[in-house]
Amino acid sequence: MNLYIKQIEQLIILQTVDDEILQLQDVIEQAPKKIAGLEEKMEIQGNQKSELLERIELLNQQKKKLYKEIEEDNAKIKKSKNKLMMVENSREYHAMMREMDNLEKTNRLREDEKVALEEDLESKNNLLQVVDKEVGQMEQEHSDLKKEMEIKTQEARDRLEQLGEERKKACQAIPAPILSRYEFIRHRLNNPIIAPVENSVCSGCHISIPPQIFIELQKGAQIMSCPNCQRLIFWKDHFEAEENAA
Ligand SMILES: [Zn+2]
Repeated sequence: MNLYIKQIEQLIILQTVDDEILQLQDVIEQAPKKIAGLEEKMEIQGNQKSELLERIELLNQQKKKLYKEIEEDNAKIKKSKNKLMMVENSREYHAMMREMDNLEKTNRLREDEKVALEEDLESKNNLLQVVDKEVGQMEQEHSDLKKEMEIKTQEARDRLEQLGEERKKACQAIPAPILSRYEFIRHRLNNPIIAPVENSVCSGCHISIPPQIFIELQKGAQIMSCPNCQRLIFWKDHFEAEENAA
């Protein structure tokens, strides 16, 4: 194989290897971010759950207090009813009746409050069940994601090691000045870095290269750059002929 073609081939390999390296580095970089994103959601949900638990605890305390008050006043009413039999004058009798009325009225209001409180408690407890289920699902999701990311990261690291070797091999076959031109373009332009020229048009910038330069390119003597976009270029036909021969 002609040396020129071999160098072009190695540049194309280098470009493919570098693309994959970037992609794998992104996989490694994104993994902890994905986990952190999920953990943030879990924290929000955890806070929601503790708020809900606090609210339920408060409602239960209210309920206990209310039950106690109802019970106490019912006892008072019962006691008054018994006393009523022994009352001697009507003034005292009416006073006791009024007191009992008030106690009964208060307890009726408390009964309404009790119903509302129990409804509230029931809906909060239902919500807690839903949140609990979601928390459980998220914990499962978190442990699955962690495992998945560990595997993906390890695979990426292994592959990167391989690619490092492939890169080294490709670089050895490319002259140093060409290699530094390659790096220069890589850091400034989008793919391709090494662009085929078809019908005298550079596939990197889609602009025709001057005839003089195209003639030079067709000779296949040295690696050239597109005068417009500065990308490394090669004549497509050269390469196809080589591919056919192979
Ligand atoms: Zn160009």
